[in-house]
Amino acid sequence: MADEQSTTTAEDAQVEERTFQTEVQQVLQILIHSLYTDKDVFLRELVSNASDALDKIRFQSLTDKNIVDPDADLTVEISVDATAKTLTIRDTGIGMTRDEVNANIGTIAHSGSKQFLQKLSEETDEENKLKLIGQFGVGFYSVFIIAERVVVTTRSADKEADAVIWESTGDGTYTISTTKDPAPRGTEIKIYVRSDCEEYLDAHRLESVVRRHSDFVSYPVKVAGKQANSASALWTRPRNEITAEQYTEFYQHLSGDHQEPLAWEHVAVDVPIQFYAVLFLPQQSPMELLFGQDPKVKINLHVKRVFIQDDCELLPLYLRFVRGVVDCDDLPLNVARESLQNSPVIAKIRQTLTRRVLSKIDDLANKEPAKFLTFWESFGIVLKEGVARDFDHREQVSKLLRFFSSFSAKLAADADPPEVVATEAEGDDADDKATPERTTTTAGLVALQDYIDRMKENQDVIYYVGGDNRQQVEQSPLMEPFRKHDLEVLYLTDPVDEWVVNSLQDFDGKQFQAIDAEDLDLPEDAKIEGAESGEDKERTIELVSFLKDELASRVGEVKESGRLSDSPCALVVPKGGLSQQMERLMRMSDQNFPVTKRTLEINPRHAAIRNMGELLKADRDSAELKEWSHFLVDYVLLAEGKVESPERVMAQIQKMMSVSSEAALKARDK
Ligand code: ADP
Repeated sequence: MADEQSTTTAEDAQVEERTFQTEVQQVLQILIHSLYTDKDVFLRELVSNASDALDKIRFQSLTDKNIVDPDADLTVEISVDATAKTLTIRDTGIGMTRDEVNANIGTIAHSGSKQFLQKLSEETDEENKLKLIGQFGVGFYSVFIIAERVVVTTRSADKEADAVIWESTGDGTYTISTTKDPAPRGTEIKIYVRSDCEEYLDAHRLESVVRRHSDFVSYPVKVAGKQANSASALWTRPRNEITAEQYTEFYQHLSGDHQEPLAWEHVAVDVPIQFYAVLFLPQQSPMELLFGQDPKVKINLHVKRVFIQDDCELLPLYLRFVRGVVDCDDLPLNVARESLQNSPVIAKIRQTLTRRVLSKIDDLANKEPAKFLTFWESFGIVLKEGVARDFDHREQVSKLLRFFSSFSAKLAADADPPEVVATEAEGDDADDKATPERTTTTAGLVALQDYIDRMKENQDVIYYVGGDNRQQVEQSPLMEPFRKHDLEVLYLTDPVDEWVVNSLQDFDGKQFQAIDAEDLDLPEDAKIEGAESGEDKERTIELVSFLKDELASRVGEVKESGRLSDSPCALVVPKGGLSQQMERLMRMSDQNFPVTKRTLEINPRHAAIRNMGELLKADRDSAELKEWSHFLVDYVLLAEGKVESPERVMAQIQKMMSVSSEAALKARDK
């Protein structure tokens, strides 16, 4: 039968020559032409693929006995032919059909490879490039680190499918053909080893690589007929018998991450249900994993050592940065996907694991501030979702929240510089070594409890201001009374922050209070009294009513301010209105979400406002007065980085430049 996509005229019409996807070619180029610093990586990647293929067939054979070689032992065998200079890795896994080979080997499915290319393209320094190459595992393609030529023979478990032979020298093309010869189920990768990599033809060398990198693989990995790994699931072993290096290897195998994990938690529970879990906190995660469409919790579920699935809800979604495995003895092996979703066993496990993860993070916060900081910078924004979404653990999550505040700069300056992040892999006794130090001062981040501990005697709420960044909120006119009276204000600068504190409502009995609320109640000593009566009072009343008319399209209300002393004006949110940050959040899901018109507060003690009042008395129709009125609003928007019509503001500023330079000149001439 002729293959329609065939591009060759070989006698065997089923031989097809194809080119690799461009990205694959890029990866291959790099692998072949550079000195890979850690060549051993290739074996780890191939054994890991074999182990995945064995997982898949073990799972399938639970329900389906109608497969090729149903009774084959599940193993990975590594053998060497010293004369032919070949290294062969063969598994009895699920194998691949011709279509699967084309789809899997020839295009980039492996997210690690994509990440690798991305990083590599960002790097310009040659030496750093080499380092990068040494760190990443790029899946199957890493075979070309040592291969001159590779021949893959694979037979799918599907009885209808023929065996497939795939061959390439990694130079841009590969050939693929089908054979009627009966091959055993699984995949064989025959590597023609490059002359400078002949160390991998030595069985002892191979054994030691397997022991080091693949010990936790739960199937026997045999080198020249001898089992080289312990093949017991890592999670069932006693904690004190597992080294930090083994946890790290396991994490990297599991996650495809090339970095060391930040921390881990090994759980073994007997009652009321029996399960094991090893959970890892990474240092970082690709954005798509955290914020891509339909993000999922990536924990591998095993039942009695058999891999079942990798996206079961074993943790709430706001902990989706956690990677790991769970192995439960109290679920049936042939459990259906659907029934897992409402399984009380899974719910129970989730509850236990949620508590354990949160308390692990809390531990980091208390004992290893540098690690906690790394965690917070990578995943804080995800964890925050928990406040709004997990009522049961709201309190636990809220204790982990950190914000910058108006005290941050001082706190950071007073604190020692944070220690360099040491990962747990550098020593299991990290816990003992760490000097308990208050995390809250790390980088000036503030925990809610610390805010409460520092509150002024006459203060009964937690003040906050929302905005785009620290600098912007710091210079807001609304900060004036707080700075003057040394009252701490939290800076909520993540787009979700106000949503988070609104969901929280209070912490330790203290309510949250936005400082841009119109009805803000300041402590007595921070309030500013307006003029009770007289000319000043009258002038202000007149100006307020003038501004109300003039600015009707831009602000909802105009009022005399009881909080400003140095700034001319501020915009505040009327009762029942939404803050700017909340509005933006709402507009993400509904573009037509209505705009809250804010209230303009003016400060009659400011010269500009006083002058405007005088101008109003003298000439109600003054063009300047109108310009100035609009400029009051623009002035605030400018500080918020939200100027609506820069032309108008520019024109106004130009005018002011002329006038004030002229005044300066006049003053000099006097
Ligand atoms: P990854 O393993 O991260 O998906 P790889 O490039 O290593 O990336 O492999 C791509 C795909 O090829 C795998 O997802 C799998 O479907 C298939 N594959 C690789 N090796 C084997 C194997 N030994 N047996 C069966 N399928 C395999």
